[in-house]
Amino acid sequence: MSLADFSDPLTARQLLARIAHAAQSLGAVRIMEVCGTHTMEIGRLGLRSLLPKNVELVSGPGCPVCVTPGAYIDSAATIALSRNFRVVSYGDMVRVPGLRTSLDEAKSAGAAVDVVTSPLQAIEIARQKPGEQVVFLAVGFETTAPATAVAVSTAKREGLQNLSFYVSHKIVPPALSALIADKELAISGFLLPGHVSAIIGEKPYLPVARQGLPAAITGFEPLDILSGIAMVCDMLAHKKAAVLNAYPRIVKREGNPRAVAAIKSVFDIVDAVWRGIGTLPGSGLSLKPEYAQFDASQRFGIPPDGGESEMPESCSCGGVLKGRLRPSECPLFGTSCTPEHPVGPCMVSSEGSCAAYFRYGA
Ligand code: SF4
Repeated sequence: MSLADFSDPLTARQLLARIAHAAQSLGAVRIMEVCGTHTMEIGRLGLRSLLPKNVELVSGPGCPVCVTPGAYIDSAATIALSRNFRVVSYGDMVRVPGLRTSLDEAKSAGAAVDVVTSPLQAIEIARQKPGEQVVFLAVGFETTAPATAVAVSTAKREGLQNLSFYVSHKIVPPALSALIADKELAISGFLLPGHVSAIIGEKPYLPVARQGLPAAITGFEPLDILSGIAMVCDMLAHKKAAVLNAYPRIVKREGNPRAVAAIKSVFDIVDAVWRGIGTLPGSGLSLKPEYAQFDASQRFGIPPDGGESEMPESCSCGGVLKGRLRPSECPLFGTSCTPEHPVGPCMVSSEGSCAAYFRYGA
């Protein structure tokens, strides 16, 4: 099949009819799209306006830089400003405001900050600059953790003395359980993130079904997203809670065992701070003791994961990330907070809900 097959209008109409049929027997339905890329695509395609009035899509905590603690960003900026230190980061992190500053501000003040697309580039930078301490900002979900794991293993194998990793990786399923447990959020079901699921497979989401909610692993083409919504609505209509796969061409039941093995070989699972949400048990990764020499927090005495979760003053990203608020319900949305002058991380990131709503409308 070509990508065009995943935007076929006739199939889209059939899926919308299936959703409408299921919704007839339901009350208010709140389906959370966990992934920031889904939020962007749903906005770009205008899907919200095509759904029955009682089916609402709410965005969730799936923007990796949005949930990276503000204190972590402040610490990263402090490292970058230290003499003979160089911070290497994914591009989205650079503009995100911490509690006091951002990497962009640090860079303007003379800090060495390099933007890369892979942690393997940090290895190359460390090789080329033996006189500098190179610190890679290891953030993101299960999608980026395998590449960090490979980079850490490579650094150890090569005996690189001037490379370390400031780790703030998060894992998705425990966050979903925490959101379900918050009954005020009234989440009815989940569209599960396709990229994360390609790594971890179906099994880690089973607690979601055990907590009584339906969930569909969902891809990113129009028909993928509509299929995910239809599966969740069908399950709700039949009072069924299971994890179904609407993205089988990419996501296998067992995920990617090699990538999972890479993560397990380098990281332990730990409690982690999610910015705007708080500390969630078993929701983060930390380097195993045998890799301590590559752990920037141990090596340079900086707190792991930043240690705080606050947002900038007046920013409602915490409510947005939990699906409690729509971005447009934040009083700063589109006035004092815009992509050109962002106040909170949800307006900065290319996967941020506020940026998606600003670009494509509610
Ligand atoms: S609009 Fe801006 S200030 Fe409001 S929640 Fe979003 S990022 Fe925060």
